Amino acid sequence: MARTQIIAGNWKMNKTVPEAVAFARELLQGADLTGVEVVLCPAFPALGPVVEALSGGPVRVAAQNVFWEDRGAYTGEVSPVMLRDAGCRYVIVGHSERRQYFGETDETVNRKVKAVLRHDLVPIVCVGERLSEREAGETFAVVERQVTGAFAGVGETAAAGMVIAYEPVWAIGTGRNAAPEDAQAVNRFIRELIGKLYTPAVAEQVRIQYGGSVTPENAAALLGQPDVDGALVGGASLEVESFRAIINAARRV
Ligand code: PEP
Repeated sequence: MARTQIIAGNWKMNKTVPEAVAFARELLQGADLTGVEVVLCPAFPALGPVVEALSGGPVRVAAQNVFWEDRGAYTGEVSPVMLRDAGCRYVIVGHSERRQYFGETDETVNRKVKAVLRHDLVPIVCVGERLSEREAGETFAVVERQVTGAFAGVGETAAAGMVIAYEPVWAIGTGRNAAPEDAQAVNRFIRELIGKLYTPAVAEQVRIQYGGSVTPENAAALLGQPDVDGALVGGASLEVESFRAIINAARRV
């Protein structure tokens, strides 16, 4: 069975509620969103309003982060129960900015993944090497450690439904995307790893995005790779026009 491409726009700490809602409405207007899954990832305050603006349509909503407990004395945190209640379908877990600035580790990423799955949300697990790691020839070892850590204790059915985003850290927000064949090589490696951790059938089902300076100009070449099942898009998801162009590239794959 062919995997449906999944294009997610990670707005990071951008867009007020009115800006986010206006984007969501504009995206729905006149856009052909068939044949591809589209996901918007607003900041927490805009999650509910964006879900409402998109209601009845095909576009899904993801949170950019989550905590692993359901409730309690964790000032400033947001639980998977709350995200589900707000109408989210997906949650980005372990984005490199969270690993870099907020101390997330393979262990905390795994706790978050399991919490998200417990509440029938789908994790989009981010993995990827830093520039120094790539230069040291450690890309595959780093990605293997991150994927194995994130999936520890996750059952086969849940694993098959998950999304992995391969995002080389040096490509994020730099305008320097991975070459399509390099993205393909790492995504293929991740799929084979999932095949070893689970079964070949699970590996065939799991969707593996590429992220890192995806633009309307380079999207077709990246998304055309056999093991690239979509994109996690930062900067180019902030304008409807460029985000739509990337969606259209995915529809043509
Ligand atoms: C991201 O933040 O996940 C990302 C890939 O950002 P950008 O597209 O801006 O590189």
